[in-house]
Amino acid sequence: MISKCIYCQSDKTIKWVIQKKSNQVKQKIVKCNNCNTIFPEKSMSEDESRIYIHNELYDINKYNVNTFKEAVSKDYFVVKKIKEYFRNGENALDVGGHIGGFIYNLQEIGYDTYGLDIYKNAVDFAIRMGQNMYQSQFIEDLPYSIESKSFSLITFMESLYYFKDPKTVLLKTKSLLNQNGLLVIQTINGDSKYFKNHTFFSRYGDNVQFMPTFKSIKYWLEDLNFNVLEIIALPRFSINQLLKYDKSFKSIIRKCGLFLNHLDYKNRTPLESSDKLIIIARKI
Ligand SMILES: [Zn+2]
Repeated sequence: MISKCIYCQSDKTIKWVIQKKSNQVKQKIVKCNNCNTIFPEKSMSEDESRIYIHNELYDINKYNVNTFKEAVSKDYFVVKKIKEYFRNGENALDVGGHIGGFIYNLQEIGYDTYGLDIYKNAVDFAIRMGQNMYQSQFIEDLPYSIESKSFSLITFMESLYYFKDPKTVLLKTKSLLNQNGLLVIQTINGDSKYFKNHTFFSRYGDNVQFMPTFKSIKYWLEDLNFNVLEIIALPRFSINQLLKYDKSFKSIIRKCGLFLNHLDYKNRTPLESSDKLIIIARKI
């Protein structure tokens, strides 16, 4: 069976590796020779994926003030980066915003914030925490209050790889951005050294639709005529875990994490094989 690339539709794809899902079912991974996109040969349908995530992640009983604090704290590194780009009077949309921890950060920077998630429990909780979140499936059922706006910033924080059709999602994103608007994507990198010893599904989850890499994301954004401003690496899994830390001694641990991150840059961990990527691109 020929697998067409989910991004560029090329049939120049190769069956690349076989990996196991969490239920031990073997899954062929396909790589596109044209745009370098990596994706499972058989992906879940959007309904299957929705049910899967809902059962795994979205449980109203899990949500409390501490969950919210964790959600606010975990993206420290990218928040710091976005701050450098902020101008007064800007607005921001976070796609796949879960319980609104990330838009809380954007609001603190000064953005007028909006967030979307398809899960009612998550959105209800976010609203209770004072966040401007909407229950919506990007891009099929956008509320009018989002559809009618144009945004200075649109973010996908570890959410892009749940979408079945990245090209359509990125094109819609582009149309919602204002001229010179910024797109920020944070993602696990499929070429991370971590995956030499672990399967993709160990971190992306069984319902992942593709595994973004430095090369594929760069290809996509240039193909869609975005100006890629920066691709930044969080180089090692262990350091990422430090930066996510939200218990006592938080600030000391974070400083250690940032210092180790800095040292790792000096050791020249190649961007292509870094653990996580933060991509900042401008609509032109
Ligand atoms: Zn392709």
